[in-house]
Amino acid sequence: MPELILPARLQGIEQVRSFRAPARLDYQFTAGLATTRFLRAVAEKRLVGQRCPKCQKVYVPPRGACPTDGVPTEEEVELAHSGTVTTFCVVNVQFYGQVMELPYVSALILLDGSDIPIMHLIQEVPYDQVHMGMRVEAVWVPDDELGPTLESIKYFRPNGEPDADWETYKDNV
Ligand SMILES: [Zn+2]
Repeated sequence: MPELILPARLQGIEQVRSFRAPARLDYQFTAGLATTRFLRAVAEKRLVGQRCPKCQKVYVPPRGACPTDGVPTEEEVELAHSGTVTTFCVVNVQFYGQVMELPYVSALILLDGSDIPIMHLIQEVPYDQVHMGMRVEAVWVPDDELGPTLESIKYFRPNGEPDADWETYKDNV
């Protein structure tokens, strides 16, 4: 590492190159109306998006308005529990609080009937076999563990269908 040229007032003072400090962040998430409806549906093992009345795109989780058209998205759309891997990442880096065994795959999954992918885990397949276009399905926690959180879906796994055609997900890569 090259020596830094310090101003005169700092010369002679030992440079700190690194230090460790415990960090903690407590926060509350206020979901808002649209996301609250989505999360309550998840607690009932349902996936619900909202459609824009102008561009017809279905957003999940819904935010209550279309970011392109700026209009409310009030029509609710029940979505399939299956979808297509549009992109993915193989996680190889250990980090504090990690619960997954390395390596594992985090992917963007375009649920059938929606126009924006959600992020979730891919399991029950070797990490080096996950690929774009792979068809997957949600694996839910047991019914008595369902709650208003995407952790109600344990992960997604291949559903055995042939890969999706590139044209069906190219706009979500
Ligand atoms: Zn729109």
